[in-house]
Amino acid sequence: MKTTVASLEGSRQNLFINGAFTAPRSGQYIDSFDPTTGRPWYQFAEAGAEDVGAAVDAARSAFANPAWRRMTQTDRGRLVRRLAELVLDNADALALIETRDNGKLLKEMRAQMRAMPDSYTYFAGMADKLLGDTIPVNKLDMLNFNVREPIGVVGMITPWNSPLMLLTGTLAPCLALGNTVVVKPSEHATASTLALAELIMEAGFPAGVVNVVTGTGAVAGDALTRHPGIAKFVFTGSTGTGRCIAANAAQNLIPCSMELGGKSPHVVFGDVDIEHAVNGVVSGVFAAAGQTCVAGSRCFVEASVYELFIEALVERTRRVRVGLPMLEDTDIGPLALSAQLTKVEGYVASGVRQGARIAAGGKRPQADELAGGWYFEPTVMTRAENGMEFMQEELFGPIVGVIPFSSEDEMIRLANDTRYGLASGIWTRDINRALRFARDVEAGTVWINTYRASSFMSANGGFKESGYGRRGGFDAMEEFSRLKNVVIDYSGAMQDPFVIRLR
Ligand code: NAD
Repeated sequence: MKTTVASLEGSRQNLFINGAFTAPRSGQYIDSFDPTTGRPWYQFAEAGAEDVGAAVDAARSAFANPAWRRMTQTDRGRLVRRLAELVLDNADALALIETRDNGKLLKEMRAQMRAMPDSYTYFAGMADKLLGDTIPVNKLDMLNFNVREPIGVVGMITPWNSPLMLLTGTLAPCLALGNTVVVKPSEHATASTLALAELIMEAGFPAGVVNVVTGTGAVAGDALTRHPGIAKFVFTGSTGTGRCIAANAAQNLIPCSMELGGKSPHVVFGDVDIEHAVNGVVSGVFAAAGQTCVAGSRCFVEASVYELFIEALVERTRRVRVGLPMLEDTDIGPLALSAQLTKVEGYVASGVRQGARIAAGGKRPQADELAGGWYFEPTVMTRAENGMEFMQEELFGPIVGVIPFSSEDEMIRLANDTRYGLASGIWTRDINRALRFARDVEAGTVWINTYRASSFMSANGGFKESGYGRRGGFDAMEEFSRLKNVVIDYSGAMQDPFVIRLR
């Protein structure tokens, strides 16, 4: 891979269409900002509707191209495995690019990139396991079977918080199963997806199998979601944007998979080691400066240990090191966008106006070396109520509101009192209680005595306004293939043309 942080610095990045890096038709480029300084560091191409159309056309041609369509499953799996090897070889360079682009910790991005090849390898194994089934019928001399086949061109729009990891969960099975793809990464972190395009080329995928269009959501994203050449849409991002995209896709009657926002409950019972639970809550909400869809931002604590818990949480929060994301001893870096910083400040102020109290953090850090960056201190809000604005809206920042509860019924009512349903967590030593929570909580993921532990081997996704469709595990086979029913009459006999044949 030629792209590095150094080569990106001050550069102009083009679109990736039909196997080549191409200038946008408008000739326009957009600044990408470094969240640690708030200054632009490279430019990416602004795709318009015509560029998006060219990318979809390339993906459609690639889908029909025998070099891809007729490639054996074994060879397709081999290609995806080759991509896994290239990602592994370039993992550290990709991590540096993401950190520079979205401000997330280098150590976290490195771990994500080093784990990503396993995900490609896992899905590569699906290439030759796309099984159909034979269905017994009530007629002799007839065969009735279902085959699974690729869907066509899959459109993907990704967010900025973990661009490549989130893309991998859907790109890898899509490719293994023989689809072609047009990706539009977030305008706040485009560089790593373009670098991956380079690796896709290097791996030997036929031109047009993967295309990357950069630009804004309002123009490039919107054009992609309206394009009639797309057969399925995968969106990862906020619930508001998801709603617009699902409406556009509905006009073309195409299926969507929606991986959206969250406001996840994190529950602590008094029977656990408090320090252990505090560690879990801190990791659940402050990791990545709160910029994770699964952030456990509503914390419910059994009243008997509430004071003790708050004391320990505040003490631990004050020890969280806010700093430059490239440094190994930094715990949380900046927010990725200045608008995000303003939004987070606004929600903290609204919480205070509604009666919550800032027990730790609550402001931008003052250190000189962080000046100009979009940093916010990890923040604990007490005297919170679940109906408060900051407890209902997804903040995407390092803020946790804590509420005591007195009974399991009260806790589950509070936990489910949200329009979201992405993730949830519980800390308890009582297995019965944990399983009751797992049964009753309205969330696509339940963590018991852990948090943020996800695997590409299991299906993940949301309930309620956190979305639909699943990423990961065997479910990916169904997500990215479609069924075709085939019926054969091998009797050779002439049939009555006016009577239905099969039932
Ligand atoms: P966002 O919705 O603002 O943007 C996501 C993507 O959508 C970007 O590429 C953007 O350009 C594009 N977009 C924006 N408006 C569009 C439009 N009208 N038409 C088409 N595309 C459009 O989200 P974000 O701020 O980039 O990311 C943060 C959000 O993503 C949070 O809500 C977070 O919870 C969610 N998220 C969800 C998951 C999950 O798996 N459930 C994972 C990560 C992030």
